[in-house]
Amino acid sequence: MKYCTKCILNEHTPFISFDCKGECSYCHEQETIESDKDFHLYTNKSDFNKLLAEERGKNKYDCIVACSGGKDSVMALYAIKKILHLNPLAIIFSNQFLVKGMVENVQNAAEKLGVDWRLYHYNEVKKGFEHFLKSEFRKQISLCDACQLFISPIKIAKKIAREEGVKIVFTGATMAQRIGAMTKNSTIPTHQKYSERYRTVMNNLKKYLGQFNELKDILSEVDDDGSIVVTSPWHYLNQERLEADSILNSLGWKQIKHSFPPKSTNCELSFLTAYLGRKYKVANYDITFSRLIRFGEMDRQEAMKRFKKRIPPSLLKKTLSKFNIDVDTL
Ligand SMILES: [Zn+2]
Repeated sequence: MKYCTKCILNEHTPFISFDCKGECSYCHEQETIESDKDFHLYTNKSDFNKLLAEERGKNKYDCIVACSGGKDSVMALYAIKKILHLNPLAIIFSNQFLVKGMVENVQNAAEKLGVDWRLYHYNEVKKGFEHFLKSEFRKQISLCDACQLFISPIKIAKKIAREEGVKIVFTGATMAQRIGAMTKNSTIPTHQKYSERYRTVMNNLKKYLGQFNELKDILSEVDDDGSIVVTSPWHYLNQERLEADSILNSLGWKQIKHSFPPKSTNCELSFLTAYLGRKYKVANYDITFSRLIRFGEMDRQEAMKRFKKRIPPSLLKKTLSKFNIDVDTL
């Protein structure tokens, strides 16, 4: 298999091409984006500070923080409370597949920081995954992408923000993840092609899932009037300057034992995403890892090692048994 010499994307990535040095078109695309004058997509720092000043103390909560229990979101919660001096409401969303430790990480941090937190259960999302896994779409797009069609953490966070009269939703998205969100509307050819293909599959999948009455509630669009700002403290503060290890330690944060790729904080379905990704050559965590590499947030060799890590068959079997699906039929 041919891999990019800079990131870990391979020859099966949609619309990828390689130059004579073996560097891929996605890496070149990112260089172009970074040199673009509109690189600073989000509101600038002074507008951001103005917004914080307006919102601070206006309501019971100043903002919502959507947490996964991972390092970035727990550190974000810390920064929002201790550095930005806001009073947040931390929320975590359960799709029934959270791995042990994710909720505990949010709970511990919230209690240590003296902030309120809530856990929201959306059990019906499981039915959506089941239909996806039993359809041909499992061969075309990653399970993580499909999940975005259901009630997603961001959609829920926005809804809660409106209910609480709050204007800001924070995530723990790093700079590399910010670029990921940004390139969707970029006019750079390779990505546009990829996005068109992506959008077509997503639209078809949505139509397909829409046939099932039992999915009506989880596929419905949440009203979005654009009044809620979704951002991350890591677009304004330098996470590297903070003593992350000692802060996380003081907040009782622990690394999740079973999550794919290793050292991540993804739900139990991440193993299934990785398995299907390998079997049907659907891009998944290699896209995220490649962005982290380009941003110097991860070493290429380390990324490759984690991405290729063996998926324990027992874990896969355990997850699939919850859907009554046999691994051989997948
Ligand atoms: Zn590359």
